[in-house]
Amino acid sequence: MNILHEFEYFKPKSKKEALELVKSQGSKAKVLAGGTDLIIMMKEKMIKPDAIIDISDLEELKGIKCEAGKGAEIFACTKIADIEASKELQEKYPALTYAASQLGSNQVRVMATLGGNCCHSSPAAETPAPLSALGAKVVISGLEGDREMAVEDFIHGNRKNDLKEGEILYKFIFPEPAKHSACRYGHIGLRNAMEIDCANMAANIELEDDKETIKNVKLVMGSVSIKPLVSQAVPNLLKGQKLTDELVVKAGEAAQSEAKPISDVRASAEYRKEVIGALARRLVKEAYEAAREA
Ligand SMILES: Cc1cc2nc3c(=O)[nH]c(=O)nc-3n(C[C@H](O)[C@H](O)[C@H](O)COP(=O)(O)OP(=O)(O)OC[C@H]3O[C@@H](n4cnc5c(N)ncnc54)[C@H](O)[C@@H]3O)c2cc1C
Repeated sequence: MNILHEFEYFKPKSKKEALELVKSQGSKAKVLAGGTDLIIMMKEKMIKPDAIIDISDLEELKGIKCEAGKGAEIFACTKIADIEASKELQEKYPALTYAASQLGSNQVRVMATLGGNCCHSSPAAETPAPLSALGAKVVISGLEGDREMAVEDFIHGNRKNDLKEGEILYKFIFPEPAKHSACRYGHIGLRNAMEIDCANMAANIELEDDKETIKNVKLVMGSVSIKPLVSQAVPNLLKGQKLTDELVVKAGEAAQSEAKPISDVRASAEYRKEVIGALARRLVKEAYEAAREA
């Protein structure tokens, strides 16, 4: 039966109060943001926390700050729908706003938060690949202070991340996109309707001043490893080169050589490898063309 068990409910009025509660309640409590993962897990009796600490309404944990020339900050409890709709983010980080637009349905996006998507740490999650490709860092808060790390280091695997007892995810910080660069996101699911991805990917390409030679590449794959997989082979192949059709094909093969997918209800490992090759070919080309226009 989908009836929730009994638990204590806390609704802190400030980030400090939330941190005190997270510290005092320890591992018997769970933080609630949008609840679109947590409540389902509770209904399905996968977890039975003794206490819920609801941080969803904390103003200190919500909002988007995007300043010309200064990157951006997105606070952890910002709704996915607000990220999708932000004109400033669409302008600067279209790979992220596009990924946000592909997460679940409208009903899910108005509840779900960016922090929740990363803290749930599902290998198939929509936002970690673009966040990582864009060079975003998470800022983690505890009563003793803040610490920060790259998104790909924060996520350790399914429902596992770097949060220690007494800590919450506070915000994401983004560097300003490099000159002559562009990042693109893509995903493949088994059907067009609401569907968790069988694979996703983001590719960020920066060009030299000639707008042809590739200076830097960050290509990140989702759902083909226990955590966002940052390619080493694709940058090794493409850096210092001008993109050709032959290199596009090789980039697909390079990404495939690194992917370590599993077979599950959504797709076989073989299918995921095929998809990774197709995504890499498409996104490398799209990001390169967009970077030439940037
Ligand atoms: C119908 C449906 C479709 C979905 N489709 C997709 C999809 O296409 N792609 C996708 O990626 N996801 C999808 N999801 C999953 C889910 O919506 C997302 O992962 C969402 O972003 C989770 O955010 P939330 O705010 O609801 O997290 P919650 O459910 O509130 O929390 C998730 C976990 O993170 C922890 N947590 C949340 N915020 C913090 C914080 N600031 N600090 C510390 N811990 C925190 C919670 O304690 C919990 O363990 C779907 C879910 C549903 C129900």
